[in-house]
Amino acid sequence: MDKIQAFLFDLDGVLVSTEHNHFVSWQHCAHLLGIPFSQKENELLKGVSRIDSLKNILALGNKQISTDEFESLLKIKNDFYLDSIKHINQSNLLPGVLNVLTVATKKGILLGVGSSSKNANLILEKLQIKDFFKVIIDGNGVKNPKPDPEVFLNGASALGVEPAKTLVFEDAASGITAAKNGGFNTIGVGNPHIAHLSDIYLDDLTQFKLETYA
Ligand SMILES: [Mg+2]
Repeated sequence: MDKIQAFLFDLDGVLVSTEHNHFVSWQHCAHLLGIPFSQKENELLKGVSRIDSLKNILALGNKQISTDEFESLLKIKNDFYLDSIKHINQSNLLPGVLNVLTVATKKGILLGVGSSSKNANLILEKLQIKDFFKVIIDGNGVKNPKPDPEVFLNGASALGVEPAKTLVFEDAASGITAAKNGGFNTIGVGNPHIAHLSDIYLDDLTQFKLETYA
């Protein structure tokens, strides 16, 4: 591994977990559609975009709706979600995150976020960690979703660091694949199913040792 000069973090599942917030928001929409929706059905939505998530729910209920209804449900989901994350704060950071951001910053490593979430800026503000990041590439700035490497390539280019000298932290298979496709080094976090895809796998960021990379 080349000497690492930059870290790029996925947001959800790496820095914070808003999985439950997404679940209750989709459950609300499914309920409006009269489609049963539990944690089991929710597995189908993990790492999936908002539009495809709603398509999956409609397929579960074998239901067809108009384009207007579809758009309106996407808005209902996002409004419900935004309301549910109103109260998140620094205590919602996943274990080890604040320490990694602090020691990496002290060491002069450039930090960025590469997330599919269109709410990334808002969530980072609420977590009070936004100032650590020199660049935040979110779902609004990317044409091709992960596993396309675009989000991470844009991040590395904005930081002015080559992918080979950048470490990507991810919790989803599509994210690890995206990073690999872009020529990045990868750390899989908090999802044993991606351990075999990642260069290095950690249960959480308390296990991260900066000396190993920089
Ligand atoms: Mg994630």
